[in-house]
Amino acid sequence: MNRRDDLLKEMGLSPVWRLRSVDTVPEQVQEQKTFNIQEMDWTQLKAKVTGCTDCKLRAGCQQTVFGVGDENADWLLVGEAPGSEEDRLGEPFVGQAGRLLDNMLAAVSLSRGRNVYIANVLKCRPPGNRNPEPDEVAKCVPHLLRQIGLIRPKLVLAMGRFASQALLGTDATIASLRGRVHQYAGVPLIVTYHPAYLLRNLPDKAKAWADLRFAVRTLSGG
Ligand code: URA
Repeated sequence: MNRRDDLLKEMGLSPVWRLRSVDTVPEQVQEQKTFNIQEMDWTQLKAKVTGCTDCKLRAGCQQTVFGVGDENADWLLVGEAPGSEEDRLGEPFVGQAGRLLDNMLAAVSLSRGRNVYIANVLKCRPPGNRNPEPDEVAKCVPHLLRQIGLIRPKLVLAMGRFASQALLGTDATIASLRGRVHQYAGVPLIVTYHPAYLLRNLPDKAKAWADLRFAVRTLSGG
């Protein structure tokens, strides 16, 4: 690592992305080719995530799962990490939980791709669907932050305990975080249950439905 990398790391702005060929060009030119994640455009960010080896997860998954949907959406939905189906297909929320999510979105006249973008805190599947580890979150969150910077959503819906706690930097329960408007990266954030949790806890579907309607009201300023 050179001094610039050290400084960026110190400021919480690393990891920086180096073009693959940088080792073959002089240091000054390398500096010009070094992009900070928060300055990347969509193409650069997608390439960064596709080629990412910043943490140990990439070695154990089939592919990265970047996110899907309308890149100018008002709604950004954030889950935890890809599961096995997502890892296989390269798209977030495509399993049973995803079908429930799609149905809930349809009930408020939304769909992935139409004013909605869906992403996860982690872009790689943790082995055996284990919980993400703090170092993996620290390495991957800058990608989500840049997605937020590029999409500029009007609302973030954090789905589940993991995403909510990771984004809000708290260990508070979902129950205590629901029903209020929080802020994340300057964007209003609402907390709700994870669709996979709802599949196992059907009575809480009514609460998730209330959260979604609360989010709709918040977005429409009401
Ligand atoms: N669970 C998540 O948190 N994200 C997915 O993409 C799928 C399941």
